[in-house]
Amino acid sequence: MSLIPNGTFEIECNNCHKKHLFQANDSDFQENDRTEGKMGPKIPYNWEHEFTCDCENIISIDYSFVEYPENTLEDTDPDGNGFSVINEFQFESNDNG
Ligand SMILES: [Zn+2]
Repeated sequence: MSLIPNGTFEIECNNCHKKHLFQANDSDFQENDRTEGKMGPKIPYNWEHEFTCDCENIISIDYSFVEYPENTLEDTDPDGNGFSVINEFQFESNDNG
């Protein structure tokens, strides 16, 4: 993984409006099948996490992002059910040269 999440991911429960905060190291993004584009590998990542809010609402996070070209964030999609996104992670290059 050459892009790593940084900062925080903050969401709000759709039912009780309680805010939930995730640090970058709370996430667990997994690399999915890469495809070959004109500018090199195109790599999708995904993190799924489900938990129950204090109000019993089930919050299901399905957060994906795409690295393309290498070391460049092409797209993010903090999808899922039961919540609204307040603040997304930042994604930064992990390439130290
Ligand atoms: Zn709630």
